[in-house]
Amino acid sequence: MTTRVACIGECMMELSERPDGSLLRGYGGDTLNTALYLARLGVAVDYVTALGDDPWSEEMRAAWAAEGIGTDRVRRLPGRMPGLYIIRTDGSGERSFHYWRDSAAARDLFSGPGAAETRAALAGYDLVYASGISLSLYGEDGRAALAETFRAVQAKGGRVAFDTNYRPRGWPDKIKAQEAFRAAMAAADLIFASTEDLEWLYGPEGEAEVLRHRGRCEIVLKGSGSPPAVRVLAGGDDVRVTASPVASVVDTTAAGDSFAAAYMAARLAGQPPAEAARHGHRLAGAVIGHRGAVIPRAAMPALPSHQDD
Ligand code: ADP
Repeated sequence: MTTRVACIGECMMELSERPDGSLLRGYGGDTLNTALYLARLGVAVDYVTALGDDPWSEEMRAAWAAEGIGTDRVRRLPGRMPGLYIIRTDGSGERSFHYWRDSAAARDLFSGPGAAETRAALAGYDLVYASGISLSLYGEDGRAALAETFRAVQAKGGRVAFDTNYRPRGWPDKIKAQEAFRAAMAAADLIFASTEDLEWLYGPEGEAEVLRHRGRCEIVLKGSGSPPAVRVLAGGDDVRVTASPVASVVDTTAAGDSFAAAYMAARLAGQPPAEAARHGHRLAGAVIGHRGAVIPRAAMPALPSHQDD
């Protein structure tokens, strides 16, 4: 039977401002990047989010479908719109991000009519993936609904993966984020954690917050350094897997998102954790060698199940 993965989160409209002030339209979102790379690696993946009934929402949905991402679980909320951000590049090439997302449709995935159906459907997946950014979308009630959904997934034999993407601006205060991340880590069967995110969030005790779950679940702890290494703790093993140097790092957008996709694809294909981390490094290494989150198909490394090191 095909293993089915659900990625939960938000994809926004992205407008890149050019020097003459005109705007170039794209779209972007961390969990969407992961879904896209999972699909490219041959994994049956659905993106689970909410959009509006406007033309841009439909264009986004169509673009995801064209990438092979399942869109049957995309809820369409009448009269609503997707979130939006503008990327402004200053004279020295430094980029800044500016958001309009408070009323984005994706924030209501776990509220209103249709939410019960989304939750019931999610419980049927083999693997459900969400990030810290996903958590920031839903508010207390939505996060409680998500937590119950995680339990429903696990009750049916499925697994929950959580990636600690932390963006402070998505949270009313740090305490709320700390609590939500703690709960998600405690619920997860697989945690992708970045040392940097954990330190921003919890200070020097950041790593301890995730390491308390060693033994209970699989942990991929991503460190910094160049090239960076990850520490993989799974089933009593604790191994360090260092990335190969990348000749020219062009843009690190989606490095962590693509790493998670290749890691999960390899694990779903039956590869051991350290091997999965190598696949993660290989895809992330290709992604950071190109501009933007999504690399050309021709630049994709081979499928995990067909690779040998
Ligand atoms: P994010 O901040 O998006 O989570 P990370 O900085 O944790 O991304 O990097 C994720 C992965 O991207 C790393 O584990 C590694 O595989 C790859 N990567 C990032 N920077 C480099 C680099 N300088 N050289 C080689 N690989 C890198």
